[in-house]
Amino acid sequence: MRGQVRTVLPAMAAPQARSQKLTDSVQLSQTPPQFLFPPTGEVTRRLIENALVIGGGPAGLAAAIKLAERGMQVVILEMRSPDYSRPHHLNAREDTLHSLRDLGVYEQVRQASGWDEHPVCESEWKPLHGQADLTLSEASVGQVRISDVERALFEKSQKMGILFMEGQTAQLQAEKDGNYSVVARPVHGGPAESMGTPDLVVVADGANSPTRKDLGIEFIDESSPRYYLGALVDVPIGPDFRKVGLHDGNQLFHMMATGHSKYPSTWISVEGDARLQTMSAEERNRYLAERGSILLDRTITPKNIGWGSGQMTIVQNRRAEECTAGRNVLLIGDALRTGSVWVSGGLNLALTTDVYNLEQVVDNINLRGLSREQALADYDIRSTLATEAWHVAGSDELEGRVKQLEDNVSYVCLPKA
Ligand SMILES: Cc1cc2nc3c(=O)[nH]c(=O)nc-3n(C[C@H](O)[C@H](O)[C@H](O)COP(=O)(O)OP(=O)(O)OC[C@H]3O[C@@H](n4cnc5c(N)ncnc54)[C@H](O)[C@@H]3O)c2cc1C
Repeated sequence: MRGQVRTVLPAMAAPQARSQKLTDSVQLSQTPPQFLFPPTGEVTRRLIENALVIGGGPAGLAAAIKLAERGMQVVILEMRSPDYSRPHHLNAREDTLHSLRDLGVYEQVRQASGWDEHPVCESEWKPLHGQADLTLSEASVGQVRISDVERALFEKSQKMGILFMEGQTAQLQAEKDGNYSVVARPVHGGPAESMGTPDLVVVADGANSPTRKDLGIEFIDESSPRYYLGALVDVPIGPDFRKVGLHDGNQLFHMMATGHSKYPSTWISVEGDARLQTMSAEERNRYLAERGSILLDRTITPKNIGWGSGQMTIVQNRRAEECTAGRNVLLIGDALRTGSVWVSGGLNLALTTDVYNLEQVVDNINLRGLSREQALADYDIRSTLATEAWHVAGSDELEGRVKQLEDNVSYVCLPKA
């Protein structure tokens, strides 16, 4: 059956410290900082008792909540203020809604998203145990605004007493014992502060993760790039979303509109080809307006296009060449991999799978007595399999090989305009 995913166990390399790019010493403030994670020198403590999360997007916030539920002390470093102004809509999969419920924020997101009730979430809830369903037929059961998800998770994290340090970027420093210590740098200037050595550092700073780059962990391209324009269009869509395959010559282009009649605007994302790279912002808006008119069956002009206008995104199956670093660092969410928008996996995989796998690391060490090395190696395997599953599920579409779209609700094929 289409969308069933088979995976192959990859050969795993033991996690190792990557200190080459981290040797620059950091200028610390003159006043001795209040260490949140006191430097311990050689970490002799066996248990994982605290964590520092880099990035307060959905993955980082969800991870922080799950770790705090285990009684851990958790701190988030986020470069933005928590104003949660990114308004684009995401297709949420069934798993995503269940995860939101598991995180205790479903009701808030449900109300913000304008659903009276949701048939999926009113149905029986089965624990996911990290097994996200990546079949295309489950690709969208509801539309959520990323800002609504982030706000709900942020408020929950605040109620739990998780320290959220805004306007801060993190820099990791390799220590002799194989752990990484963390230095917080204020975005708007001011002295850097040492945070000490957390038991666990969770890297959740998104697809352009500066932390991953600093660690020397590259993104490996696993498919050719696809070019997308996305922006808010000031027309409501109604309760349904639209996902359309547009045949342009031999190419299948992917176009998607998500939103809700509750919102005055709809998020539209349309695929083009490499020529989008050479277009001006005005030309891109005209392209988006033309395709948006097809999607919404309304006349859309560049004047209707708001947030995100003129910007181009490259979508590609990519994955970090390592999922962990040293003895205390692991990557989650978009910092770990990105992939096809057809299967709507970004938020889904972060919430259902990465966070679950992260919880397993803590439980493996704290409850099951595994060594850190074993627990991180286990995380590496789980994460690699999850990435592979998502990439397999989305690769047909990324390569434009879709000839038949099976889903009878979500997908429409239009002839070339
Ligand atoms: C236009 C668009 C449409 C999408 N549609 C869908 C969809 O339909 N379905 C779906 O499942 N997914 C979708 N996604 C993907 C989804 O948004 C991501 O997978 C999800 O947001 C990943 O969460 P994250 O927390 O890993 O990363 P992000 O959301 O990128 O969050 C990273 C956070 O880290 C912060 N940060 C960055 N650098 C630093 C630093 N140096 N120090 C501190 N903080 C830092 C950022 O400010 C940000 O808050 C879409 C994404 C986009 C852009």
